[in-house]
Amino acid sequence: MAARIIDGKAAALALRERIAERVSELKNTKGITPGLAVVLVGEDPASQIYVRNKGIACQKAGMHSETIILPAETTQDELEERIRELNEDPEIHGVLIQLPLPRHLNEEKALAVISPEKDVDGFHPVNAGRLLAGQNTVSPCTPKGVMHLLDIAGVELEGKEAVVIGRSNIVGKPMALMLLQRNCTVTICHSRTADLRSHTRRADILISAIGKPGFVTADMVKTGAAVIDVGINRVDGKVCGDVDYAAVQEIAGWLTPVPGGVGPMTIAMLLMNTLEAAERSLNE
Ligand code: NDP
Repeated sequence: MAARIIDGKAAALALRERIAERVSELKNTKGITPGLAVVLVGEDPASQIYVRNKGIACQKAGMHSETIILPAETTQDELEERIRELNEDPEIHGVLIQLPLPRHLNEEKALAVISPEKDVDGFHPVNAGRLLAGQNTVSPCTPKGVMHLLDIAGVELEGKEAVVIGRSNIVGKPMALMLLQRNCTVTICHSRTADLRSHTRRADILISAIGKPGFVTADMVKTGAAVIDVGINRVDGKVCGDVDYAAVQEIAGWLTPVPGGVGPMTIAMLLMNTLEAAERSLNE
């Protein structure tokens, strides 16, 4: 039987509508407009598009949005000073640094300057530590979006075998921790994993976050598994994921397409994290 396709575009749209309703309620009842500041250093064309899309998404949700564009030659001190100003700005509830930064800047140091309360990407070491400790925290947007897709698709998680391919700090590791939090038995695979297929074939939930087109083939997938394709690759100008979509569709129980799967959820979760940061600021 062909896999049920999880429509991330529709899920993200529905979530963004609910976020817009909560934003409007927050404005009307508490007089607060959630605000997101995106800091871009330099003129990388792809980053410019991502930043613009984030601003548009904020505005559509009724949020306040600021884009801070700094010249490519900005120093570490200047960048950190600008972030500190945003930490103090009461109109801003979320601060995001568009990555990658120009090579002369230290990303890790810059991210650590963002106040953990305003870290809507969930990359700050304090928030990463809270996630590891199983505490309530700001979770990175992409894995948070994956969890939402699994939930709306009705995929059972408790006691299931979950395999995550990829161990980056922004996708693979937080993804594994979130699945663990939901009582999956989790395996993390990476480029040095021996006999990758022996792991993936056991997976009831298989998450691919590698960045290699067509990498996950049908023979790597257990019949009926939920396969979530986080990868974004470009082949002959076309966007595709890590999964051999046509073949895996015949084996899997659920499958996310690329485009139209995890991608749209990431930006929706950025809005959610900003809204939640604004709501939390009321209790501080
Ligand atoms: P990274 O390059 O940081 O990490 C890739 C991971 O894949 C690494 O852990 C690497 O292992 C592993 N890997 C590479 N080759 C193999 C292999 N042959 N076998 C097993 N594992 C392998 O990427 P990101 O985590 O940042 O992103 C992963 C993908 O997800 C990319 O395509 C990216 O574009 C996409 N992405 C999509 C988002 C969305 O919104 N949909 C958001 C963020 C990312 P090792 O650690 O050993 O090198």
